[in-house]
Amino acid sequence: IIQLYAPLNFFGTYYLMIQQAFVDMENMFDLLDVEPEVTDSPSATQLQIAGGRVEFKNVYFHYAPEKRILKDVSFTVEAGETLALVGPSGAGKSTIIRLLFRFYDIQDGLICIDGQDLKQLNQNSVRQNIGVVPQDTVLFNDDIRYNVRYGNMSASDDEVEQAARYADIHDRIITFPSQYDTVVGERGLKLSGGEKQRVCIARTILKAPAVILLDEATSALDTETERNIQSSLMKVCQGRTTIIVAHRLSTIIHANVILVLKEGEIVERGTHEHLLVQDGVYASMWAQQQRSLEMGGAMDQIEGGR
Ligand code: ATP
Repeated sequence: IIQLYAPLNFFGTYYLMIQQAFVDMENMFDLLDVEPEVTDSPSATQLQIAGGRVEFKNVYFHYAPEKRILKDVSFTVEAGETLALVGPSGAGKSTIIRLLFRFYDIQDGLICIDGQDLKQLNQNSVRQNIGVVPQDTVLFNDDIRYNVRYGNMSASDDEVEQAARYADIHDRIITFPSQYDTVVGERGLKLSGGEKQRVCIARTILKAPAVILLDEATSALDTETERNIQSSLMKVCQGRTTIIVAHRLSTIIHANVILVLKEGEIVERGTHEHLLVQDGVYASMWAQQQRSLEMGGAMDQIEGGR
């Protein structure tokens, strides 16, 4: 959980940098004058997208050698399908997302997109084909039009507006003082978490990537906002390979595969129905969320394994 780290220690700062990196990788490295962890191999090739099939094969990963994070993680997401990652805090869910975006290289195993080894691919070509909707979207101190267009700089004003409508943020934008010319971000109009997320969804719609990575917000938004965001998310993910780190199990009932991760290992996998029948970790997480929903929904987050 991002909020837990920031900005108390080195990891906190680092983590925020990584969050930011989801938005603007190269700019950030320029800005902070740090070396990216991962460099392209001299023979790196461009990712050739053919539907966006994602495969992890026996992946082992650690940030520091004394603490292994992922152990022998294997899974496949077929092109256009949805995979959900659930499990207790610290299990390694967000790490899987970061690895797919190639913020780090793995120590052992293989990560492939459409059969191509991530390590052999040009990083930019990978990031161009992957859209990320993080928990916290960073907005640029620029107008809202620029912020949406960032997903595809060659999009016309009409396309920007269409994407905003699709992401259910257009109606809100036209209430801003200068509508699409309104400056947002730290030095401009401040947007709520839900609004920022919808800006990010609009960006992603313009980007139209084959693969989408979603990091579901842990902090519960109000039900109405939540529902709107869910439906915009479903629209943007339609027909694209989607990997979602889920905190509310209700949002992933229809996922093609759910992986339950615990201490860096996959302990269960299957569809929602399959996992309920199995009556293991997932089933008890589900039961617990149902109970807390009944208690008023105040605690509708995964607390499994704690
Ligand atoms: P949450 O649900 O709380 O977001 P998660 O399952 O997504 O948790 P990760 O963020 O993948 O968990 O973290 C897995 C482990 O890796 C944690 O123990 C965390 O402390 C550690 N970790 C995360 N980022 C770093 C980093 N940059 N350097 C070192 N350790 C890290």
